[in-house]
Amino acid sequence: MSNKMQAAFVEQFGKPLVVREVEVPTPGPGQVLVKTEACGVCHTDLHAAGGDWPLKPKLPFVPGHEGIGIVAAVGAGVTAVKAGDRVGVPWLYSACGHCEHCLSAWETVCPEAEFGGYTRNGGFADFIVADPNYVAHIPAGLAATAAAPLVCAGVTTYKGLKVTEARPGEWVVISGTGGLGHLAVQYAKAMGLMVCAVDIDDGKLEHAKRLGADAVINAKSDDAIAAVKKVTLGGGHGVLITAPSLGAFKQGVGMTRRRGTCVLVGLPPGDFPLPLFDVVAQCITVRGSFVGTREDMAEALAFAAAGKVKADIERQPLSAINHVFERLQQGKVASRVVLDFAAR
Ligand code: NAD
Ligand code: ZN
Ligand code: ZN
Repeated sequence: MSNKMQAAFVEQFGKPLVVREVEVPTPGPGQVLVKTEACGVCHTDLHAAGGDWPLKPKLPFVPGHEGIGIVAAVGAGVTAVKAGDRVGVPWLYSACGHCEHCLSAWETVCPEAEFGGYTRNGGFADFIVADPNYVAHIPAGLAATAAAPLVCAGVTTYKGLKVTEARPGEWVVISGTGGLGHLAVQYAKAMGLMVCAVDIDDGKLEHAKRLGADAVINAKSDDAIAAVKKVTLGGGHGVLITAPSLGAFKQGVGMTRRRGTCVLVGLPPGDFPLPLFDVVAQCITVRGSFVGTREDMAEALAFAAAGKVKADIERQPLSAINHVFERLQQGKVASRVVLDFAAR
């Protein structure tokens, strides 16, 4: 094993990533070293590289939180995984395990949580150091490239749909049918929900239809809210907003049914005005949702292992990362790009 590896670094916010050769890291006690096979490119990586959010990562850092690979080495004291296991290194890189949130299986909101590809170096590299207590366990039979989008986009939308509290037969509106949304459509159908997909791109809406959406509405059409209310007979019992655009948030609240729940998942920088009178008078719940717990992760992966959900992927080599970022920013990625470390 060579002790050098390629990694893509964010060296300055808003500047292209720099792919350079660095030493392969050594896993410390309680850590594992994962040899990367694949890593999905999430829109969050663009926010990270842009320094978009109030909590900024320390420069330089390696983005990527949909890394899948094989455990190559384990540090002292590790028993949760062994060399040769296929694991995912997710956004929820680690948590404290002891706070009130960790104790109630809400480790995603642990105040001590570390984030993969953000506060810790991530999967845009040949090797990743990970916490064995928080890695995803990839079911046998699921290829690394197929699994990659599930460890962020998959688990996030699956959990987001759960917390809409929509029940089988009820309507969910999925706003944004890109990397997250194309999986949300499939999870929602597998969960027995009726799906109204909303996007600004007719190609993505066509794709959502192919993936099982019962209705599609272009968010740019004259009265998209009225159109959604018409097909859903009153709005979504649940609404899941994955669009990285502030306009989609106010619109999404408007697409929520009386007593329905609007779940915010997209993270464009900034705030949006909440139509207070409608939210109050119609008893609408607006809630945030952040990735998913380890239990949600296992469930989300099981849907794919059972063949009920399949990420639609485009493979690219690590060296293409800046071009992939440009296309993702411009909305030109069909569903999800996965960096394939077998392709050089
Ligand atoms: P993406 O670029 O792959 O997909 C975004 C989709 O939204 C595209 O299809 C685009 O056409 C569509 N869109 C843009 N503007 C829209 C609008 N006004 N109305 C409807 N659709 C619109 O991005 P992604 O990887 O799916 O990520 C989406 C967002 O979710 C990002 O902001 C990302 O940071 C966030 N995210 C949040 C979590 C979480 O845990 N809450 C996890 C992962 C990603
Ligand atoms: Zn992500
Ligand atoms: Zn905690």
